[in-house]
Amino acid sequence: MLKLLCVTAHPDDEAGCFGGVLSKYSDAGVECSVICLTAGERAANRGGAADDEALKAMRRKEFADSCHHLGVTQCQVLDYPDGALDRQDFLAVTGHLVQAIRTLRPHVVVTFGAEGFVTAHPDHGMAGLFASAAFQWAARTTRCTAQLDQGLTPWQSKKLYHVTSKFSLPERPTVSLSPVTARIAVGPYIHRKNEAFAKHTSQRPLQPIFEHAQQKHGEDELFHLAATAEITAMGMEIDLFAGIRE
Ligand SMILES: [Zn+2]
Repeated sequence: MLKLLCVTAHPDDEAGCFGGVLSKYSDAGVECSVICLTAGERAANRGGAADDEALKAMRRKEFADSCHHLGVTQCQVLDYPDGALDRQDFLAVTGHLVQAIRTLRPHVVVTFGAEGFVTAHPDHGMAGLFASAAFQWAARTTRCTAQLDQGLTPWQSKKLYHVTSKFSLPERPTVSLSPVTARIAVGPYIHRKNEAFAKHTSQRPLQPIFEHAQQKHGEDELFHLAATAEITAMGMEIDLFAGIRE
């Protein structure tokens, strides 16, 4: 079975940034997993939560509902601090993701680029940096060796993609986005993507911003091929699993 792992920073990223491809590939029989590094407890929209712990619990539930709606079979919210991924121990967070990759053994990993996608959120950029290092390190016998001593084996995922866009958001810092090398048609899945985003009821004030960005993106989700296990000439792809066999 083909497998895809998506690494995000906050509950709602999976729907807002990756909801089309998660739906599309789940429907195609790909086993899709999402790991979200924070529970999103610093969000400006509090959903009526009394404190950070209450908001964490609320957003974990919303994340699970959203993932279920998208067809994601394995989803996990870790407990790194929201808004502070740039101040975490790089080895610890990357090691956590190395362990996940060695356990889940995905063929394709999707995440953010260092710019943080169109929102320029530093947590997005950091999630992408951790996940990109983990993509490389998971395959090496010389990295995170304690995991190997405990029975995990190295795993080389075939391709790493960073989500990208053709525009910056005017209300956010301008970002330097990665060039588009994969244009994935998700037209039939836009409705389900919107529904998944709406599962994040605590973030309802963001829905108009999300839908505006969604309209600008049209019926494609755009990606940048950031690394491949087998060196190939760069060309425009229409399938994240192009050239990959089980
Ligand atoms: Zn986010």
